Amino acid sequence: IVSAEAYRRRHEISVTGDNVPPPFTSFEATGFASEILREVQHAGFSAPTPIQAQSWPIAVKGLDIVAIAKTGSGKTLGYLIPGFIHLKQRHNNPKLGPTVLVLSPTRELATQIQDEAVKFGRSCRISCTCLYGGAPKGPQLKDIDRGVDVVVATPGRLNDILEMRRISLHQVSYLVLDEADRMLDMGFEPQIRKIVKEVPARRQTLMYTATWPKEVRIIAAELLINPVQVNIGNVN
Ligand code: ADP
Ligand code: MG
Repeated sequence: IVSAEAYRRRHEISVTGDNVPPPFTSFEATGFASEILREVQHAGFSAPTPIQAQSWPIAVKGLDIVAIAKTGSGKTLGYLIPGFIHLKQRHNNPKLGPTVLVLSPTRELATQIQDEAVKFGRSCRISCTCLYGGAPKGPQLKDIDRGVDVVVATPGRLNDILEMRRISLHQVSYLVLDEADRMLDMGFEPQIRKIVKEVPARRQTLMYTATWPKEVRIIAAELLINPVQVNIGNVN
């Protein structure tokens, strides 16, 4: 057992916000359902990464979060597992639209997130689909019609499908902006804004970014409510 302060110092974690819960310094400390812990064990992971350790208790509490951490730090499961827990508490009908929406800048990244969601969500029977450009819309629309709990999408393709009125985001209550800095660099801000307009204001919003420039700060201030900010290392 290590104190929150000692753990944060050792792993270069800094937090800003009100009532920030202490990090989960081990998998046992998370209290996650056994199905989820089994998958994590299967993957051969021995402990949460620092971003997971600190962002899980915040996300599970339902708070908005801005997480600034470099590539390879384990951010995907940082938001996916709390997303699964959120989903299980909702009991929504997936045929009426997704509950968890993850926006990602590229097809490759979106596909990787989808793979992780399938792998770690399988045991809790979570359905997930990936929407990206450069591929026919037909199969993607079919997946949506069949019903999905989690949608991982690039902003361009999701916006196209929204304009066709072939997806409803009215059930989305857990919204993730992954690699927010890259999405803005790629010029996706207008599409992100249009998408977020379709998501109810009563939601939890999580933003993950490797850098924290002014453009990202501005959109974070607009889309998140009183977020807890978590920094790993000296990225800023
Ligand atoms: P990021 O989004 O921060 O760039 P990823 O979520 O893609 O990082 O994770 C990077 C790699 O680390 C992936 O292969 C992932 O499966 C692995 N990983 C995630 N969590 C852990 C953990 N707790 N222990 C060991 N490896 C992990
Ligand atoms: Mg990532």
